[in-house]
Amino acid sequence: MSADPMSEAAAIEGLVGACHCGRVRVHVPGDSAGVVACHCTDCQKLHGNFFAMLVADQATVAWEGAEHIAWYRSSPANDRGFCMHCGSRVAKRPIEGAKIMVSAGLFERTLPRSVLANVWLEQKPAWYEAPRVGAISPEDFVALALAEPIETAIAQYGYVLRAASGSKNPPGVIALTWIAAKDPSERERVRAHSRQNVQDFLAEPGFISIVTGFTGLRGFTVTAWEDEASMKRALGKHHAVAMRELFGENFVASVWTSVWTPTRINRLWVRCPSCGSLEDVSDDHRTCGKCHAPLPERPAFW
Ligand SMILES: [Zn+2]
Ligand SMILES: [Zn+2]
Ligand SMILES: [Zn+2]
Repeated sequence: MSADPMSEAAAIEGLVGACHCGRVRVHVPGDSAGVVACHCTDCQKLHGNFFAMLVADQATVAWEGAEHIAWYRSSPANDRGFCMHCGSRVAKRPIEGAKIMVSAGLFERTLPRSVLANVWLEQKPAWYEAPRVGAISPEDFVALALAEPIETAIAQYGYVLRAASGSKNPPGVIALTWIAAKDPSERERVRAHSRQNVQDFLAEPGFISIVTGFTGLRGFTVTAWEDEASMKRALGKHHAVAMRELFGENFVASVWTSVWTPTRINRLWVRCPSCGSLEDVSDDHRTCGKCHAPLPERPAFW
């Protein structure tokens, strides 16, 4: 064995779990997200009640005795692993995506964790109460939202990204759209189209920025343009190909698009770093009106 200090540190900080008979062992990073409790009907069937799991990148999880694991496809999107000798359920592995959910039950009873999130509560049976949820860090929240659709009765969480051209001009039109994929593989197809669309948008001088993301299977965009003509030019490129697939093939569950023009564009305010005054910088002046200190560059409108 080498005395690599990095791998020694990883071994100390990582968590090691085992199935009931001990033939399957698992190493996960100490900073794996969770515990997450999944209350979906699949987890109820497979685990007897909810499934308590730690969420980690597949690349960071190491198995010993992997030849004793059988993988069962519990849904089109997920495989479930169990020990062929003792039957312990060891993990849920999404077919798409880089994450894996390892059963929290494999680890020591002293696992220094609490439940951070309940997911699929709407499928929870009435005969048990969902576990109380502890405090969750923003990093864990993002990791969990990427791996499992975090949902409450009124809120669905997901992820978002912004791509901006650097244009400082106010938007003349805003496009609001959403599109719902039927399953995770369709979501990947939608995302592939989006990546191409964003490249086209960035090549159009009248493009300001796009804020786009997914909550579960539903993708959304908020795209700002200087005027409708620039929007139409950009949408005439790859976007037109995607629309033909939408209408010509069995692709996506539902979709809505719209284009908006502003009723009113309000002032843009920036705080002076010297005196704390909130300055109206709509005209892009760079000197504080109160203390005459230099002001930061005016941000884009969108
Ligand atoms: Zn076993
Ligand atoms: Zn589940
Ligand atoms: Zn000032």
